Amino acid sequence: MTTDSILNRSYSLEKEQIPPTVVEQIDDSERAELNKKIKSLLKQQNAVMVAHYYTEPDLQTLADETGGYVSDSLDMARFGYESDAETLIVCGVKFMGETAKILSPKKRILMPDLAANCSLDLGCPADEFSAFCDAHPDHIVVVYANTSAAVKARADWMVTSGSAVDVIKHLAAEGKKIIWAPDKYLGDYVQKETGADMLIWQGACIVHEEFKGQELETLRAHHPDAKVLVHPESPASVIEQADLVSSTTGIINAVVEMKAKEFIIATDKGIFHKIKEAAPDKILIEAPTAGKSATCISCAHCPWMAMNSLRKLARVLETGENEIFVDANIVQKAKGSIQRLLDFTKDQKKLAGDA
Ligand code: SF4
Repeated sequence: MTTDSILNRSYSLEKEQIPPTVVEQIDDSERAELNKKIKSLLKQQNAVMVAHYYTEPDLQTLADETGGYVSDSLDMARFGYESDAETLIVCGVKFMGETAKILSPKKRILMPDLAANCSLDLGCPADEFSAFCDAHPDHIVVVYANTSAAVKARADWMVTSGSAVDVIKHLAAEGKKIIWAPDKYLGDYVQKETGADMLIWQGACIVHEEFKGQELETLRAHHPDAKVLVHPESPASVIEQADLVSSTTGIINAVVEMKAKEFIIATDKGIFHKIKEAAPDKILIEAPTAGKSATCISCAHCPWMAMNSLRKLARVLETGENEIFVDANIVQKAKGSIQRLLDFTKDQKKLAGDA
């Protein structure tokens, strides 16, 4: 395959490659027992939980109750880095565990389920990506956080959904040509916002890709006062209807800060737990997906995030299983691309403070 034919090839997963979304069902007495056991093990092992907004409410609540943290992927890693804990329990997907290890190589990083992956990470194999970058040596390589450590190691910059537009704008202003990977929808959105010269890898998030523009129009007609908040991993037909396109943290803040009462939200429904805590009086409506079929490919909840559960968390704390290791060479290289973003966001905050 030629490197340019890569741009015409879809790196979206086939339906057979996507596991079903299975949420662990437990009753109140088992929940109480597991919570007690996990709290005691966390203390004994000087361990702290860092959980993503898309994980199950039980895990988010427990992270908050035990001095842990619930956030987006970069903030999870930043919290882990700044924490004094010897062990970080990363409740999320594999690239989040790897990013935590890259930023905190001396800490033990455990994950409830090592099979918890991400269609964006799976859709960007490091060897193919590296060959593609090699074929375009005049391009700066910018990758999204949702990539393997090896892909981050090949990149010049790592960005998040909240920082992508600012970073690309900055690079475009310097006249740089850019390779973007792996999310095609986020890449298209960023390209439109910045006008940058970008070669865009054709991966997709299986959750956000399912949001449907036409059905959203119909839903908006029924809720004319609702504000539409969209994560930029969604298709353009959905993004075009948004009152706000933003990262997970940006969506939560918007519900709290906007005066509107009703919100239609296009991102994984795991986020509703934190939004309800932060803004209990607001009405939240799920953006429509492909339909209420039984496949759960269209249920707006990530099957890999759902693999994190209280039972599995207790088990890894008891056994020490599921530790994340990243090759030291890769750690060193990947850290460069992540650090560039951390420095950039710090400078931006400083500039905003100075203004
Ligand atoms: S929601 Fe999408 S981007 Fe997030 S982990 Fe799941 S597949 Fe990856």
